[in-house]
Amino acid sequence: KQQDSLKMENSALTVAVRVRPFSAKEKAEKASQAIFMYGQETVVQHPVSKQSYSFAYDFSFCSVDESEPAFASQQTVYETLAKPLLLRAFEGFNTCLFAYGQTGSGKSYTMMGFGEEAGVIPRFCCELFSRLASMEDKEVKCHVEMSYFEVYNEKIHDLLVTRDEPNQRRMVREHPVHGPFGWLELGNKQRATSATGMNDKSSRSHSVFTLVMTQTKTELVEGEEHDHSITSRINLVDLAGSERCNSAQTSGDRLREGASINKSLLTLGKVISALSEQALSRKKVFIPYRESVLTWLLKESLGGNSKTAMIATLSPAGSNVEESLSTLRYAQQAR
Ligand code: ADP
Repeated sequence: KQQDSLKMENSALTVAVRVRPFSAKEKAEKASQAIFMYGQETVVQHPVSKQSYSFAYDFSFCSVDESEPAFASQQTVYETLAKPLLLRAFEGFNTCLFAYGQTGSGKSYTMMGFGEEAGVIPRFCCELFSRLASMEDKEVKCHVEMSYFEVYNEKIHDLLVTRDEPNQRRMVREHPVHGPFGWLELGNKQRATSATGMNDKSSRSHSVFTLVMTQTKTELVEGEEHDHSITSRINLVDLAGSERCNSAQTSGDRLREGASINKSLLTLGKVISALSEQALSRKKVFIPYRESVLTWLLKESLGGNSKTAMIATLSPAGSNVEESLSTLRYAQQAR
């Protein structure tokens, strides 16, 4: 455990995998289990070829043994993967957390969750704002802005702009302590509304939730007040379903969509692995931020003074084994 947290502290990129329980439908179909996790190791057993594949990541959230699968709670995932990013943000680092995986594998459950099963984003907001509240009246002043975007077909949509105030294109908003959850709800509602009638649009768009925190300390230097500010950007990203990244496309809009999702996911993979390479070799490497809207949007928060984590989500079922393998390979290449 101690070693794990040390590793997370020292490397710029942390990769985790999470397998979800069988769905009711999979249970009814008596789906076979293809994903097994033992400590940090993830083993895939191909139900047809009978081949097995082994992968290792920083963390696996998972079944402990085959007879009695145990699944990581929302709390555990938050504590292990997201909370360290929150602590880094207070130290002035920019941070990103991505959820990557095929549609239905648990990305939005992990990032947003629901009710008691709250995911990373509401937990993160909760802790951030309660820390800020308890910090009040000290010499550090904190200011937080929030934005929530959707990237669809290489275009950016602001989810916090409503029809009632269409001209107020406030890219970023300032919030009182109780504000964030109202905005979050609004953004989620708008995301759902824009997806209605668009055949599963939300699985084909990336959602980017961003908090920008500025901490200002006022110091007296020779009788004069001086402000020192540090700003950290925190991005919590639910990526589009990765299946469009490989499946054969038909034509027209679907093809264009597939291609643009593909572009963002592929570019993100390239950017992350170029950044890892740069960190390892300590040489300047070309980072293709401009090749997709998503990476362009996140440019400031990736690389440099930043910490990035990725959680790859998986279905346990044998019927999804090809997608699961492609997810695991993507996560490995990022490493
Ligand atoms: P995605 O966002 O990748 O398309 P979802 O997050 O919507 O997938 O998950 C698909 C379904 O599986 C949802 O009904 C969700 O509640 C459920 N689910 C996903 N992950 C878990 C988990 N770890 N534990 C329990 N249920 C889960």
